[in-house]
Amino acid sequence: MSHPKAATEFLKDQANSQWHDETLWMIRDKRDASSKSIPEWEELRDLASDIKDNVLSNLDKYLEQFEAQALKNGIKVHWAKDAKEHNEIVLSILQEKNCEAIVKSKSILTEECHLNPYLEKQGIEVVDTDLGERIVQFLHQPPSHIVMPAIHLKKRDISALFHEKLHTEKGNEDPIYLTNAARLHLREKFLGAKVAITGVNFGIAETGEFLVCTNEGNADMGVHLADTHIACMGIEKIIPRRKDLGVFLRILARSATGQPITNYSSHFRSPAKGKEVHLVLVDNGRTRQLAREKFKNSLKCIRCGACMNTCPIYRRSGGFSYGSTVPGPIGSILSPGLDMKKYSTLPFASTLCGSCSDVCPVKINIHEQLYEWRQEITKHHGAVGKGLSMKLASGIFKSPLAYQFSGSLMRKVIKSLPKSVIYNPLNIWGKSRDLPKAPKESFQDWYKRNRHE
Ligand code: SF4
Repeated sequence: MSHPKAATEFLKDQANSQWHDETLWMIRDKRDASSKSIPEWEELRDLASDIKDNVLSNLDKYLEQFEAQALKNGIKVHWAKDAKEHNEIVLSILQEKNCEAIVKSKSILTEECHLNPYLEKQGIEVVDTDLGERIVQFLHQPPSHIVMPAIHLKKRDISALFHEKLHTEKGNEDPIYLTNAARLHLREKFLGAKVAITGVNFGIAETGEFLVCTNEGNADMGVHLADTHIACMGIEKIIPRRKDLGVFLRILARSATGQPITNYSSHFRSPAKGKEVHLVLVDNGRTRQLAREKFKNSLKCIRCGACMNTCPIYRRSGGFSYGSTVPGPIGSILSPGLDMKKYSTLPFASTLCGSCSDVCPVKINIHEQLYEWRQEITKHHGAVGKGLSMKLASGIFKSPLAYQFSGSLMRKVIKSLPKSVIYNPLNIWGKSRDLPKAPKESFQDWYKRNRHE
């Protein structure tokens, strides 16, 4: 479904769409307050952007350094060129361990690779242990936001869901009660899993260690109880030195939720005695994006979600309207890079107001890239209606005579035009718009009449 159609569906429930808008805006407000509390905020953004620029210019060097250090630390490193290879690697490790159930903490990369349905088809039970992810997993939905996967749901929806799935008290919407029920349910799953899968927020080239940031401690719980840890990491997640974390950890949580830091920033360096750590490094279109000069800096993204929280389109149309793993402004740049045709409507789902670029902690010029994608998509897939109307308009604007004639014609006929000319299914532009009232005379006529006054 195209973005406009999916957004129309979401907007049918006006009250819900307004609630979604206000909820996300509240988080944007928190981000503002939190970032303003640090005088050096802009300096941190500059630093983060520069570090990521350096990483992208030397990605091969840092990846090799990271791999060598990780191997030295006893981590088993795997390389996956795409989602298929990533899923096969994970499955082969699980099969080697005779593993039938895994626990998984939040990982956008595994969503991108559709790991859950792939493993489930092989008879492996996958339990998402992040509370929001578990909620959407129960509903067989993808996350609607990269940081708050169930932000589209209200307390009463979760209460009803938990009553059905976890047999909680009917109608009890108390968040503490519901969270405790989820905690007990997940505790059982943690205790039974031999393998834990996590994403990776930062891989440190200098030391070969990697970091997983969570607010619930679910990644740590899974990893410490399981014998095998599989960490799935996009190759752009590298940072050169451990001390660079001083920059990224300060901007990540503040941009995401307004917290000073995530509750858990866990470092994984080498396997504990008798355990195994596997690291799967995934390309899946990232090197292709790196080769696109205009779009390569979208790879600087640290997945904080701030651009979603501020975007007037995301807030009003909801995460599912994008139909992509990463929704919102950054997703509208990344997704056409993976499949330009499928995601051709996404770069147009923007007012180009630039608010996304203003809040981005790594200073990605998001709105400029959205504009660039529009040019690319129009070049490749055309925009027949728009092309014709622009040609017609250009012909009229180029000729004063044609301009005057069409003006006087429209002033006469606009009042008697049948409504169907504007409001018809072929003219989606006409939806929710009214024709202007035609003035009695043109500006030129008015000027001639009044210039001596
Ligand atoms: S593009 Fe920037 S604001 Fe958006 S998720 Fe990525 S880092 Fe955050």
